[in-house]
Amino acid sequence: MSALFQKKYDFIASDMTSNCNLRCPFCLNDYTQISGNTLMEETTFKKVLTLLPLLKDDGFFFVLI
Ligand code: SF4
Repeated sequence: MSALFQKKYDFIASDMTSNCNLRCPFCLNDYTQISGNTLMEETTFKKVLTLLPLLKDDGFFFVLI
């Protein structure tokens, strides 16, 4: 395996709506300023998918909505 493609991530999370509904207390987003959803562009999602080879074999891929 190339050093450029070491599987080094335990998880990858992707927010599909720019309005993640988990509301983690440590989140940097200010949800008081966000209303409604803005869907991720298809080209962006396809770019996210290119990161999958960097995920460890027992890693997780989260899609947040
Ligand atoms: S964007 Fe991340 S940190 Fe913020 S609420 Fe969603 S999962 Fe939690």
